[in-house]
Amino acid sequence: MLKRFPKVLTAGHRLNFSISVTLIPLQQNVLIVVKKMVHNIYIKCNTCGTPIRLRIQLDGSIYKYDLPIHVCCPNPNCGDEFDCHFNHKQGVLPKWFVASEEDMPNYSISYSPQLPIFSDIKYGVGQAFMLTPFMALGTFYTLPKISHFGAYMQTILEEVYPYRTLLKELIPILKKGNVMAFQKKMMKIMELENNKRDLSSVKECHDVYTDFVASLRRSFSSPEYESNVSGVVLEKCIHSIRSHSKEETQALMDVVKRTTNIQKWKEDAMRYLGSFLEHSEKYYPVMFFIQVGDITIPHTIDFMIDTIDVDSVHADFSKSFNLLNDMLLLPVGLCNMDLTEDFNIFPNATTGMKGINGLSEFAKLPDGLKIEKLRDYGVIEKYLSNYFNSHVRNGIAHENTIFYTDTQMVEYYYKMNDDETHEDYRLIDVAIMTFVNTLHVMELFVLLNTLSNKL
Ligand SMILES: [Zn+2]
Repeated sequence: MLKRFPKVLTAGHRLNFSISVTLIPLQQNVLIVVKKMVHNIYIKCNTCGTPIRLRIQLDGSIYKYDLPIHVCCPNPNCGDEFDCHFNHKQGVLPKWFVASEEDMPNYSISYSPQLPIFSDIKYGVGQAFMLTPFMALGTFYTLPKISHFGAYMQTILEEVYPYRTLLKELIPILKKGNVMAFQKKMMKIMELENNKRDLSSVKECHDVYTDFVASLRRSFSSPEYESNVSGVVLEKCIHSIRSHSKEETQALMDVVKRTTNIQKWKEDAMRYLGSFLEHSEKYYPVMFFIQVGDITIPHTIDFMIDTIDVDSVHADFSKSFNLLNDMLLLPVGLCNMDLTEDFNIFPNATTGMKGINGLSEFAKLPDGLKIEKLRDYGVIEKYLSNYFNSHVRNGIAHENTIFYTDTQMVEYYYKMNDDETHEDYRLIDVAIMTFVNTLHVMELFVLLNTLSNKL
């Protein structure tokens, strides 16, 4: 992984105050409240000693966990990248961050544990007044939308975050098929001692596990995601399973099984989803885009994310992409059944899919070509196009990516032995792709369980 030294924004990049001023008369009270909602911490860069004012957007997260902060030193001659944590009781951790006595340092770094921020406000140079990440988003999205997201995040913190280890901790017990231990563990994590649910078979344990995955998917989803990305595909898949005979569904599964070991896929998916949920708070700024319904990639605004580093996003992207790729025949086959009554006949058989006879032949296509062939397949195209990105996957697989810390732009050199051709995305957009692919993995996991209950 090559990394270039950051280029600090100069005075020319300062905030456009004309935009923010229009907000003030409308939201005077909000502004007063929000101004208090940024916590200032004065630190020095561990490498070059540059004093920095770290401005942390305060929200409900601070009482739940240590905020993960991944930033780079704004001094153009330094470029050190550092991870630190903010703990509401102890301040900035780890301890080797030296407090700075300067209360007007040259550099400010804005940080939010739940909101995306954009480069104009991330690095401030010598500014006395800066917008909070919350207020700055108000220049792109309506305040009711941003406030709605705040309320949504409060629910996630209360109803999802406490159970973040659940999926992972239940895997070994489920694998052993120990019903009693499964039930006990589940009750313990969910603190349900007084609300006992009796499980009598391994199959019931699998159903309960799948229910968790399904409810997790519902929590992370949004009406915009449903209507623009996944909804129609899921509806068609479920409709196909319900309306076609056991024999027809079994025939489709036989084709899927020829390319993918279903049992291994399920286990891999469980492991991936378990670890994803465990660190899902790192994706909270991504959830902002899912909730406000701005999911189309790329974003023209240079949004940034500082809760997760590029290597972690890439690891999650690869795993979710490969899981989706290995099970792609299932949603495509089920949608074929719904649209043409035959899982082997594509609705675009005479156009995009011309010359490809059936699902097995489709499965053999190179990954990049699969998406090309599906371009005119309405619902599937929407399901995959922005997120199922084989160029990003190939760049990561070839270990041929360049990450620019100042802009968070990533170059993906996706062709083997070619150091010229690249496709570029911002880290936050790759994180959004990862998040949507992960939701798709949850959907396929639930679909497989629905199928195995029928067969
Ligand atoms: Zn430094």
